Amino acid sequence: MKQVFADWWQALLNLIFPACRCVCCGQEALLSATGLCPNCKKNWEDGAKEYRTCNLCPTFIPVGEDYCINCWEGKKHWFDSAIAVFPYHGVIRDTIHDFKYRGRVKWAKPLGRLMVEAIQKDSRFHHIDMLIPVPLHERRKSQRGYNQSELLAKEIGLGLGLPMSTGILIRVKNTPSQTGLKRKGRQENLTNAFQVLDSCGVQGKNILLIDDIYTTGATVEACSRILKREGARRVLVITFSAGKYY
Ligand SMILES: [Zn+2]
Ligand SMILES: [Zn+2]
Repeated sequence: MKQVFADWWQALLNLIFPACRCVCCGQEALLSATGLCPNCKKNWEDGAKEYRTCNLCPTFIPVGEDYCINCWEGKKHWFDSAIAVFPYHGVIRDTIHDFKYRGRVKWAKPLGRLMVEAIQKDSRFHHIDMLIPVPLHERRKSQRGYNQSELLAKEIGLGLGLPMSTGILIRVKNTPSQTGLKRKGRQENLTNAFQVLDSCGVQGKNILLIDDIYTTGATVEACSRILKREGARRVLVITFSAGKYY
């Protein structure tokens, strides 16, 4: 009788709380809205706890510092505020590679949800009119099959109830890979790489620009610059990950 009751109770619990597999480790567990089990979420957060983002850009710096070396030296930014969720190392780096280069689009949901949590915690990001993902050139997008930043923006749009636009900002230059280029080279590489197709669509708007990763910042600076020049009121930036500077 006791066993029958235990089986019945377990069946009821499974009905109310269906066990799902964690998107990261594959274990069955009760998942948070991110699709990560508590262990994986903690593991990701532990990798970030000694760092915070710079007050002026998404670069990660040790807790207790205020600015990264570039901002300390007076580097100016085209965006108004910018944050990132996790420093680019360990499991986060592997996850981004999986998402971006190995076609694993399943990562869009957990990464996007974690970005939503970061946005909701930061009052500088509370008045946004629209989301714009950093665009890929059409050729690159058709090679890859998707734009990872657009998938993240879609999740963030669902989480915040905000519209996303993919037709306003486009990439007109299919620049060679940024890897291996120094900061100055990256900036020159991106000059005139982006174009705004509909100025009216950005004028007076508070825009949240979304990308997967921030390294030198050349890409989001180029996008923010053209959005500001076309009349955007404020350009805010969130990337899932960013590099570390000391
Ligand atoms: Zn897990
Ligand atoms: Zn900085």
